[in-house]
Amino acid sequence: MKLLIVGSVAYDTVKTPFGERTRVLGGSASFSSLAASFFTETALMGVVGEDFDPGDRALFVQHGIDTLGLRTVPGGKTFHWSGEYGRDLNEAKTLQTDLNVLATFDPEVPESLRDTPYLFLANLDPKAQAKVLDQVKGAKVVAADTMNFWIDQRKEDLLALLPRVHILLINEAEARQLSGEHSLVLAGRKILGWGPKRVIIKRGEYGVLNVSSEDLFAAPAYPLEEVFDPTGAGDTFAGGFMGSLAQAGNLEPAAIRRAIVMGSVMASFDVESFSLDRLRSLRKDEIEGRFEAFERLTSF
Ligand code: AMP
Repeated sequence: MKLLIVGSVAYDTVKTPFGERTRVLGGSASFSSLAASFFTETALMGVVGEDFDPGDRALFVQHGIDTLGLRTVPGGKTFHWSGEYGRDLNEAKTLQTDLNVLATFDPEVPESLRDTPYLFLANLDPKAQAKVLDQVKGAKVVAADTMNFWIDQRKEDLLALLPRVHILLINEAEARQLSGEHSLVLAGRKILGWGPKRVIIKRGEYGVLNVSSEDLFAAPAYPLEEVFDPTGAGDTFAGGFMGSLAQAGNLEPAAIRRAIVMGSVMASFDVESFSLDRLRSLRKDEIEGRFEAFERLTSF
């Protein structure tokens, strides 16, 4: 089934212990839509400035992604995020956030996308996430992601969004920040009390923890010899997860678990290089191969 993703499309400036890159393609919607496109028909919504490289738009089109909802603001500048990682690659330190065209993003969902059954509200201003949700009347499965920046700046809007989403994806530190609980199980349960049916806590190299009233499920991250740049791992996980779920077309426990492992597989590719470089060249048989390796890794 078709999946609509709205989120940031960015130029990122990133420094890790293994190198740095300036103004490379990033953003929550970029990583997640590219990852999802391997599993299901995907549409991307977002906003960019006039500085956005046509080659970057072409990357989405080459992967069969519908970019009708990717709007260019005349005279505007693309959102820019700059971050740094120390030896602990699990936590990004944000150096600078230049919202640019994101500051005034007033999303208008094209008519042809208002019936999309699967909707992923990737990390973005929760006000803009809610505006998209208002318009996609046909959405049957809604997932949302967020981050510390929005928990700090727009907590009320975020709390108002939670009862309207089925699945919240959030990283470990942010789950603790939002809930005020240190234990992730308690944090997940507290967030469940605010509305979503399922909370998926992303734990970087420690994998993910899925908390719902019915089940607790954990998956490790795929162990890699080298991680170059964790930027976008959470978004890539979410894209693989939602893409796989939309492909399955149901929310049965087996489909959820498979989607969680697919998300983990996709994230493991993302971190092997800077920006979207590894996802660009990724092939379906490589995804299948790593999924099988994941099964061998966790079977006992
Ligand atoms: P992650 O998957 O958590 O590593 O997300 C990294 C991506 O989030 C980067 O490509 C950034 O462009 C994007 N990003 C950073 N800050 C924000 C923000 N405040 N709103 C939306 N996207 C952001």
